[in-house]
Parts: sequence; structure tokens; C-alpha cells
Amino acid sequence: MTSPRRLESHVCGRWIPGEKPGQPLLDAATGETVALIDSSGIDFAAALAYGRETGGPALRRMTFHERAAMLKALGQALMALKDEFHAESLHTGATPGDGWIDIEGGIGTMLTFASKGRRELPNTRVLTDGAVEGLSRDGSFVGQHILTPLEGVAVHINAFNFPVWGMLEKIAPTLLAGVPCVVKPASQSAYLTELVMRRIVETGILPEGALQLICGSVGDLLDHVTGQDAVTFTGSAATGRKLKAHPAVIANSVRFTMEADSLNAAILGPDAVAGTPEFDLFVKEVAREMTVKAGQKCTAIRRVIAPRGQVEALVAALGERLAKTPVGLPGLEGTRMGALASLDQREEVRARIRDLQSVAEIVAGDPAMVRVASGDAETGAFLNPVLLHAARPFEAAAVHEVEAFGPVSTVMPYDGIEEAVALAKLGKGSLVSSVFTDDPRVAEEVVLGVAPFHGRVLIGNRASAKSSTGHGSPLAPLVHGGPGRAGGGEEMGGIRGVTHYMQRTAVQGCPRLLSAVTGRWIEGAEVRHDVHPFRKSLAELKIGDQLVTAAREVTQADVEHFAEFTGDTFYAHMDSDAAKANPFFDDRVAHGYLIASFAAGLFVEPNPGPVLANYGVDNMRFLTPVYFGDTLQVRLTCKEINPRETAEHGEVRWDCQVTNQKGEVVAQYDVLTMVAKTWPALAEAAE
Ligand code: NDP
Repeated sequence: MTSPRRLESHVCGRWIPGEKPGQPLLDAATGETVALIDSSGIDFAAALAYGRETGGPALRRMTFHERAAMLKALGQALMALKDEFHAESLHTGATPGDGWIDIEGGIGTMLTFASKGRRELPNTRVLTDGAVEGLSRDGSFVGQHILTPLEGVAVHINAFNFPVWGMLEKIAPTLLAGVPCVVKPASQSAYLTELVMRRIVETGILPEGALQLICGSVGDLLDHVTGQDAVTFTGSAATGRKLKAHPAVIANSVRFTMEADSLNAAILGPDAVAGTPEFDLFVKEVAREMTVKAGQKCTAIRRVIAPRGQVEALVAALGERLAKTPVGLPGLEGTRMGALASLDQREEVRARIRDLQSVAEIVAGDPAMVRVASGDAETGAFLNPVLLHAARPFEAAAVHEVEAFGPVSTVMPYDGIEEAVALAKLGKGSLVSSVFTDDPRVAEEVVLGVAPFHGRVLIGNRASAKSSTGHGSPLAPLVHGGPGRAGGGEEMGGIRGVTHYMQRTAVQGCPRLLSAVTGRWIEGAEVRHDVHPFRKSLAELKIGDQLVTAAREVTQADVEHFAEFTGDTFYAHMDSDAAKANPFFDDRVAHGYLIASFAAGLFVEPNPGPVLANYGVDNMRFLTPVYFGDTLQVRLTCKEINPRETAEHGEVRWDCQVTNQKGEVVAQYDVLTMVAKTWPALAEAAE
């Protein structure tokens, strides 16, 4: 056997071994020593300072699109190395399927953030949040919320169960926000996180100081956190509470995101009786959640809530399915469930099952007797799935309070949907619940009933059976976290997860100066009139470049022609009496889309030029009716410019305001165009 790897921490730009020989970390399935871990001798205050002083400024110099491109390059580089990570992952007790959730799931999450950053964020360093708020009658004083990256470090303290996903799902939104990270993986599986970190460092993709890793204890690190830092924690509620109450965290109002125990529930709808597709899907889902990752998932189904009349059939179906789950060495073909993280963890799970047995009886599996298809039941941390039944769930407090972090679930009966919802709520706040039903009324009643107690709710039925990502999978675009017992935190949720590492600030001032701050033109800010703005490439165009068009009258013939041509002969355009009877109109009116079409006819510059395409409009509102004989005029102002990092063009957003002869705004919207970075294109210019 080769000697175990000595894990190192990567801080202050270099790899540092601990001063002591280190604690052995054992292979979950074989008990062999995989690595040694120790972080003694590390200057944790210096690590934080390095992140703040070196990583932070480098990240903040980049735009959102540059950071998104960085995450994409990193995600792609890691994906190319996944086989190496999978080989190491087997030591954690995870099967290749479990490893897929951790490794491909983690890298996929990073790539999703990369793509969202590119598509949903502007190519700037500051975000605006919400609309401009008018604060004065004459428009000279307005307000706008902005988001800027924190100037500290995000310390991510992770759990043992997802050594890759746990790191990547947290650093992706943090780095996209422009904030450096210090990751502290749980010791038990830190060798895999350390391997991924080594490969990340080797790519050279991240700026110096953007990501640091601590293998082993974080020592006095939390003593040094400030109000610009953020701490996230995933693990046990006891540790989470301790860290949340750390004096420096409290004294400096440090953002603290916690994800702890969660007694996730799955509810079988009253319509989903044995024989329906929903019943079968439910059985599959519960069994899957119990066995994937040997039930060591923060989102796993712990409480199974079923109509009283279905409990017997459900227990029988689950028992049969679970009994057919081969448990053994995770790398062997045929193994469906690997080992728990460690022998200690198995003892912990057995102890929690004993707690549950005070109010529930075991109906499938035996925690004392391990049956393995391969491997050694004593030296490997194996445990077959255990299903319990609590006949009186409202009196079974332990079922709603004790998290057995392994392949363990408890079935309980309910009478009526209200009871099912009440039981789910007894978990006092969970990451996720699911309801399996094909009845819209059940879906509505359960989801609205349990939603305040959950960060995510999944509805399972026959229509989404093939495409559903399942109860237990947190997804990058959706919120992951939950209230109360689940820790009260929120992660991911798409761009929401990025803003967790940014400060929201209300900025007040005159439009000109506010526009300078945000890089976005706002009403009342400076404008420029020279050549037609559609003749300007991104190299020349500036926010505030404006076109005020000629005026055009709208005639009855125009409206009738448009109606005939498009087929839109809605009565308000065609029938004077009917239009007058409508509370909004005094007579026949022009179509809203005719107004928008005439507006385009007024503002476009028809010749080939730097404007490449119109790809839509945002926030279109028709504000004042347009009657026959009214005259339209357009004011088009360059509002936002987003050059693409990887193309010869970018997006330009134009504020489009259409007014009538009285100066009333009849239509207001944003026109979205693609504009070339240079025009004529450089190649043509060179000819
Ligand atoms: P812990 O709470 O002990 O550890 C979680 C993380 O916190 C680890 O990285 C750990 O590091 C670190 N940590 C522990 N003590 C401190 C401290 N004083 N200062 C700073 N960091 C600290 O949980 P475990 O991972 O041991 O899991 C125990 C139980 O937690 C499980 O059995 C399960 O019930 C629950 N759990 C819940 C999860 C969820 O998401 N809901 C996920 C994982 C676990 P180190 O490993 O080096 O001690």
C-alpha cells in the first residue's frame, strides 16, 4: 500500500502542510488510511487579509461577464478532469452515481452560474436593483438601489457529504459577485476537495487570492472576521449555532448563512392510491432518497406522510424495494448503495435510530445486522436501509426532531390534507418537501400550506415523471435553504445567490450623477444629439445619445389598413359605438402595435450599419389612447451598453418614449438591439 497523502492547505498563494503529522482520514468502505490532515501553524488572520487585499481587488476589477467567463473556463477545465475526481470519490463511500451528483453536479452548478452571469447580468461592476424611484416633483432628485461586492472574504465551512459540490456551489456565486473565498471542507472527505483545489490552482484561471483552502481546523480564523466578510456553514445544528454565536460574528454583524438539520417530508396525495402512477413514483422517490449517497443528503426524505389507508401498501412496496438494494464496495458494478462516511458516522446513525425507536417501530431493515454484497461489514461503514413506522405521528416528537443522517426514513399516516400539512410543519422548517398528486386542488392546498416552512417544494406526478430532477436535488437556478431548523439560510436561487455577497445601497441624487454611478441612462440625465445613434458602433456610442424623430399623424386609413393587414380587427379599433362604450376610450383608437410599428418607422436608420438586429422589447406599456388625427413623435435614448466578451458585438438597450401632439406619453418601452463593436467592421475598413 502506498503511504497516505498529507493534505495541505492553500493559503496566501502557496501550499502549506500542517506542522503536526496529522489525523488519519479513513476510506469509508475499507477502513484504509487515505490521507492525513492537519492545519496547525497556519496564520488564519493572514489568510483573510490576503483574500481581502489580493483576491478582492483583482476580482472587483473584472466585470460580471469577465467573471462569468472565468467560471466557464474553470468549469470546463474541471470537467475534463472528472475521472480523476471520481476515482478519489470512491474513498468517501460514494458510488459512481453518488459521485456524479457531487462532481458533475458541482461543476454543472458552476457552469450554470457562468451562463446566468453572462445572460442575466450586465457587463459592468455594479448592479442596479429595481426601478428608479422618483423622489421629487420636478424629477431633479431620484433614488436607485445598487449592489456592490463586499470587500471582505466569504468563508465557506462545508459538510462532509458533498466535498466537490459543497465547494463549487458556494464559490461560483461568490466569485461571480466579485468576492474572494476561503473554503474549509469537512475533514472526513477533505482529500477530494483538496485534489480539486490542486487542479484549480494548476489551471491558473482564478486571480491570485480569489480562492484559498484550509484542510483541517480553521483555528482562530473566525476571531478575525469583519462586517465586510460573510460566513456560510453547512453541517450539524450544534456546530452551526456555536459558530453563529461567535463573538466576532455577532460584534461585527457578519453575514452568516446556515444550513443545518432538516427533517424533509414527502407527502403522498390522497388521490395517489396504490395502482396510480403517482403511488409508484412516490415509492421510487422515497427509496431513491433513502439510498442515494447512503441517505447522507441534507435534502433526503426523512418523513414519509401517507393517507392512512395507503400506509400498509406503501410500507410493503418500500420494504420490497429497499431489500433489493445491494450494499457494498462503491466501486464495484452491481453496488447500489455504498458506505456511510465513517464508522463513527454509522454509530451516530444507529444512535439516532434508537431515538426514533422510542416513538416508531422498524418495519424494514435492521441497523444491528449489516448485509453486504461486497466489502467487510465491520471495517466498512455499511448500513442497510432502515424504514420505521410511527402510528401516532402527532405524539412522536422524535420523528420531527431527530435527523438520522443515513438511509433512514419514517412512514406516518394522515387523515385529511390539513393533517398532512400540519405534520410536515412539525419539522419546524425544512429545506424541501414534496407532494405526489395528480389533483390540482391537492397540489394547491399542500404547497400553500407548507411553503412558509420550506425553501423548496416539489410536486411529483405522471406528467413530469421523466423530466423531474427529483426531491433531493438542489438546483443552481432555484433557492436552496430553508427556515427554522433548516438554518434560516438561502443559497443559489440563480442571481439571488450572487447578491448574497453584495451590499444593497440606496443611492439618492440628481439623475445626471446617479446615471454616472450606475452606468445606466435615467430620465433627466444628460443627453447628446449629433449623428443618428444607429450610425454609431459600440466604440462611439455613449449612454445618453439621443434621437428625437419627426412627427407622424395617425389616420383612420392607417388603422383600418393595419387591421386588415394583420387581421387584428378588435372592436376598439373598428367600431366607434363599441369603443365609446368601453370605459377606457372616447372613440376608436389605434392599435398599440401600430404605435410601436410607426415608432420603429420613425426611429430606424434604414441603411446597413452597426445596428445588427432588434431582439425584442422590454416593459412595453401603452399609456394614453391614440385617436385618429393624433400625431406621434419618438424620443429614443441609449440607456445601457453591454459589450460581449467573446463576440464582435454587444447588446444595447434604448429607452423609447412615444408622445402625442400634447406631449402626453402614449407608449414607453425598452428597445433591445445587437450592435457591432466597430463599424465599418475592422476587416472592411482595412481594405
Ligand atoms: P459538523 O457540524 O461537525 O461539521 C460541519 C463543518 O463544520 C465541518 O467542515 C467541520 O470541520 C466544521 N466545524 C466543526 N466544528 C467547527 C468549529 N468549532 N469551527 C469551525 N468549523 C467547525 O458536522 P459533521 O460534518 O460532523 O456532521 C454531523 C451531522 O451534521 C451529521 O450527522 C448530520 O446530522 C448533520 N449534517 C447535516 C447536513 C445538512 O446539510 N443538513 C450536512 C452534513 C451533516 P471538521 O470536519 O474539520 O470538524
